[in-house]
Amino acid sequence: MIIVLKPGATKEQIKYVVDKIKKMGLKPWISKGVERSIIGVIGAEDAIRLEPLEVFPGVEKVMPILKPYKLVSRDFKKENTVIDLGDSVKIGAEELIVMAGPCSVENEGLLIDIAKKVKAAGAKILRGGAFKPRTSPYSFQGLGEEGLKYLKRAKEETGLLIVTELMDSRNIDLMEKYTDIIQIGARNMQNFDLLKEVGRSKKPVLLKRGMSNTVKEFLMSAEYILSEGNFNVILCERGIRTFEDSTRFTLDISAVPLVKNLSHLPCIVDPSHATGKWGLVPPCARAAVAAGCDGLIVEVHPSPENAFSDGVQSLYPEKFSEMMLELREVAKAVGRAI
Ligand code: PEP
Ligand code: MN
Repeated sequence: MIIVLKPGATKEQIKYVVDKIKKMGLKPWISKGVERSIIGVIGAEDAIRLEPLEVFPGVEKVMPILKPYKLVSRDFKKENTVIDLGDSVKIGAEELIVMAGPCSVENEGLLIDIAKKVKAAGAKILRGGAFKPRTSPYSFQGLGEEGLKYLKRAKEETGLLIVTELMDSRNIDLMEKYTDIIQIGARNMQNFDLLKEVGRSKKPVLLKRGMSNTVKEFLMSAEYILSEGNFNVILCERGIRTFEDSTRFTLDISAVPLVKNLSHLPCIVDPSHATGKWGLVPPCARAAVAAGCDGLIVEVHPSPENAFSDGVQSLYPEKFSEMMLELREVAKAVGRAI
């Protein structure tokens, strides 16, 4: 349920309504808009219908949110959410943000080398997995905390911000210590306890769409994070399973404008995992920018044939630089910048 406040609603009037909602055992979330503020009410709403909230001073109207996701929805917040990561890196603003780096953190020297190259090409955030969700238990599982230390070193060396995946909620403290954005991978999109854990964190969260999940389920997973108090969520379309087997997954490009219509949260695209083929990464990245995404996450490796994971979908740094130049033109054509 949404309570729309009058433009001139006073602090006291807002407090009165908020206290009333809390007394009913419901959770109020205030969203301050440019013109007017609204209060989102989460919980069993039946109780509230008994109360004539619409007659309270400062209240303009009361509307039900018919969608199953509430805090994530555009009904709750009309303006785009812009996530300010500091160092003038903002996700969801006019400038698109590109995250790039290896699939897995392999060693410090290689990571710093890649970090310098992607930074020179215009990336603002370094990606790299220290905890890897691998299909086979016999495949490289990541360097763990050692890998996180290398990411921190690369940050000190280049000034790039860091995004890395959290798989186990027992490692949340490590994430708080080493990373700027916590990534929740496709395979954990519906790990609800993990979602609640990052919902209680102060770090922004990059939530990847599950490979077999609908857009509605994707947004419901984001709702888990927001409902715990963390509103800094970046959604990521990374391809879904279809009958097509000539690409690793099928990039659902329509999910980008759809998600942006339904939600105020920023949405980025991962053309590397979506296609599984390095040659398809630049054209799909161009399509994503044209479709209105707020950024990209791309795998880059100086020696893809020797990469510990996902070499076939990794771009050489030179290819990545070329792609960035092309993306600049596409961004300009749709009123954005990179
Ligand atoms: C990754 O980005 O490292 C990754 C494993 O991606 P996904 O969860 O989308 O498969
Ligand atoms: Mn990968």
